[in-house]
Amino acid sequence: MILEVRGLSIHYGGICAVDGLSFGIETGSIVAILGANGAGKSSLLKAFMGVCPGRLRGEILLDGAPLGRAAPDRIVRAGLALSPEGRQLFAGLSVAENLAMGAYLRRDAAGVKRDREDILALFPRLRERLRQLAGTLSGGEQQMVAVGRALMSAPRLLLLDEPTLGLAPLVIDEIMALVGAIRDRGITVVLVEQNASKALARSDHAHVMEKGRIVMSGPARELASNEEIVSAYLGTA
Ligand code: ATP
Repeated sequence: MILEVRGLSIHYGGICAVDGLSFGIETGSIVAILGANGAGKSSLLKAFMGVCPGRLRGEILLDGAPLGRAAPDRIVRAGLALSPEGRQLFAGLSVAENLAMGAYLRRDAAGVKRDREDILALFPRLRERLRQLAGTLSGGEQQMVAVGRALMSAPRLLLLDEPTLGLAPLVIDEIMALVGAIRDRGITVVLVEQNASKALARSDHAHVMEKGRIVMSGPARELASNEEIVSAYLGTA
């Protein structure tokens, strides 16, 4: 298990966003976290990265050791990376500069160069646009930069927060195929999505969140084939 959560709660003032969660992420898997707006998914990913502004209780363990309240730079060095909701690119910087920002903490220049090549092989559209300002890219291309930037820190665990939000169906399929390619490189992936059916098709395991709790967990294929679950929790998306 690469990451484990034990009794994790997150409060913002009087609001409970995450309510006593316990679950684990198997090394090498793709794990989907599904649920409606406000279910607590983004708060959870932010807590993993040490950037959640809420009040945390409970434990997050990486490789079996408690993270405590580690600072984000230590968490990145330990092998986690987040592609945040809304992409959060540096719109006035080029694609190349955005990617370079992802390697900010690294000192192994040769490794950074190798990873950059690997990422550009994964996203050939970005290689053609290295000098283009990120703010002028299409939505799908921007999402690729956000994922590429997260990969530039050479993570073992990649957290993707709604990577398909607002994208056209064909572009969604392209992004989802990339998720599989990333896992094939040995990187564990946590995929937060509202696009449940597409996410389940790509994932090994899935958790459904509702009001800060996990209300359903299981192999992705089982969840996808259970009509009751699909209509009750996942809608038709
Ligand atoms: P979405 O898909 O809309 O991003 P989500 O499942 O990711 O939803 P969160 O963004 O984690 O859910 O939000 C969970 C709850 O916590 C919501 O009620 C939200 O309003 C609240 N919340 C999130 N961030 C903050 C914050 N910084 N301050 C106060 N409340 C917050």
